[in-house]
Amino acid sequence: MSETVLILGGTREAAELAAEFVRKHPDWRVITSLAGRTKEPKPVAGEVRTGGFGGAEGLAAFLEKERVTRLVDATHPFAKRISANAKAAATLACVPLDIRTRAPWRRQPGDDWTEVVSLEEARDALPSGARVLLALGSQHIAPFAARSDVHFVVRMVDPPDEPLALPDHNLVIGLPGQTTEAEAALLERHAITHIVCRNSGGDGAYAKIEAARKLGLPVVMIAR
Ligand code: NAP
Repeated sequence: MSETVLILGGTREAAELAAEFVRKHPDWRVITSLAGRTKEPKPVAGEVRTGGFGGAEGLAAFLEKERVTRLVDATHPFAKRISANAKAAATLACVPLDIRTRAPWRRQPGDDWTEVVSLEEARDALPSGARVLLALGSQHIAPFAARSDVHFVVRMVDPPDEPLALPDHNLVIGLPGQTTEAEAALLERHAITHIVCRNSGGDGAYAKIEAARKLGLPVVMIAR
């Protein structure tokens, strides 16, 4: 039976799922929804729509208008609001919801993790004089401005709209390296002593964790 699938995306897994649906089910209408945060998102198979729906009610209205038969939540595990909206909208519009958000990374032998639950706790866990790879989006940087005794190397996909408020930092623009070797080389080039990141799960950003393990570097891991 032909289906109209709405994938709530913005992740590599969502794009892979869209490609799989389009390849396996040429008769399906496959729509991927992006929030519109990334300036130049990678091409996605099938249709793409961009921007918020206007809450759970807006999403439910979209499901009804487009006669969506299946809603897939493949958003990032830290994107909590859209996942809550997806649940509510699926109920409102009586559309089945398929949750495909990633499982978190688990500590492996050799990992030196300090697990924290907030950006503020991550900031406070860093020792004075540390050289820190801050692998966080620009919206999560502000709490670290209080640490003028730490050097930050901030990696983000797009350049920030405004200069970062961090006292001592440099920027590395681009996607995470995809191999342990590439990430280890970056860590060594910048003489990094600590990594701060969120426990996003999945493969796309895991190479830095493997590189930290290889180099024996501590990771301040922000839990979900
Ligand atoms: P969020 O806090 O859960 O969502 C905030 C609002 O943005 C939602 O209420 C919704 O607006 C809109 N929105 C979010 N995802 C959307 C989507 N896929 N399609 C249409 N509208 C969407 O989300 P966020 O943390 O800002 O993340 C935004 C997007 O970036 C997500 O799609 C996520 O998969 C992706 N992403 C997030 C992270 C992260 O760390 N959070 C990392 C990588 C990728 P309305 O209420 O108006 O519908």
